[in-house]
Amino acid sequence: MIYHCNACRFNFERFSAVSACPDCGKQDIREANAAEKAEVMRYRKEFGPVTRFYTTGLIRWKSRGR
Ligand SMILES: [Zn+2]
Repeated sequence: MIYHCNACRFNFERFSAVSACPDCGKQDIREANAAEKAEVMRYRKEFGPVTRFYTTGLIRWKSRGR
């Protein structure tokens, strides 16, 4: 599942339940909307070899230009 942090606009993917943003620690997170998920998919393509992060259950992307 892909999440979005309302506090710092950090998009991240987690394969287990998450209660707080891993970047800023705030609990103001929600499921990413369609546009944010599309952005995450673009990052996944751009930074191809992210598979190693899958083992940790956490993939990090910073939104750019916002
Ligand atoms: Zn955050």
